[in-house]
Amino acid sequence: MNWTDSFVAFGMGIFAAVLLTMAWRHRQAKRRRELAPFRADWRALLNRRLHTLRRLTPEQRRLHEKRVVEFLTDIRIKGCNGFVVTEEVRVLIAGYACLLLLRPDAYVFRGLRTVLVYPRAFWVRHQEPDELGLVSDEPELRLGESWNGERVVLSWEDVEAALDGDAVNVLVHEFAHQLDAENPETEGAPLLTDYARWSKVMSREYKALEKRSSQVLDDYGLEGPTEFFAVATEAYFQRGTELRLLHPDLYGLLRDYYRIETSD
Ligand SMILES: [Zn+2]
Repeated sequence: MNWTDSFVAFGMGIFAAVLLTMAWRHRQAKRRRELAPFRADWRALLNRRLHTLRRLTPEQRRLHEKRVVEFLTDIRIKGCNGFVVTEEVRVLIAGYACLLLLRPDAYVFRGLRTVLVYPRAFWVRHQEPDELGLVSDEPELRLGESWNGERVVLSWEDVEAALDGDAVNVLVHEFAHQLDAENPETEGAPLLTDYARWSKVMSREYKALEKRSSQVLDDYGLEGPTEFFAVATEAYFQRGTELRLLHPDLYGLLRDYYRIETSD
């Protein structure tokens, strides 16, 4: 390549950069236009079904509503096995999931593209090797799944049960996996500034659960750090008072991360 060639290449590079910047600006402007305002009937629905919302400050409520609008704009919610996704379903899923995003610097589930909703628990046949390297062909019944930060799968019947106060909350469980996936370097931890406290509290609680079952943390958490974080998140949202009384350090850690008091 001679000087003239490199000059032409340089000019083309600048031209490409200008085009990319214009395309990016255009996309940002389009996205701002697309962000619909938060509607009053959505607020009424969420107030009626999502009891944790009462614990939010007015400032947190505004942040939550902003996140819900972003969620509904960017993430596709699709029904499977004949399940019809109504607007009520979409708003409840977005409203619930965004309760996990009250940190001012939170991303609205970066990388998540699709939420698939089944009417009830669903059968899956994954050909993934287990910890012994054995591949099972047996179908398994699931309430939910989270795929590498890209996709969440939910059983609507079980989301409804969680809304009605059941101890199992498949929705916050799977969305906690999404937060976990935001940091590929760690297992069982989201993006944080202070990993020292997180790993100290989480490992101590994990070891305690290995020794003795808890009244509030499901033993399924012992599948590994990722499941422990998801199971602890379920207990935090569904059994906040018991979690604070029985596991105060774990409760405090999750309260400082999620920024809500879920205990009475
Ligand atoms: Zn899980």
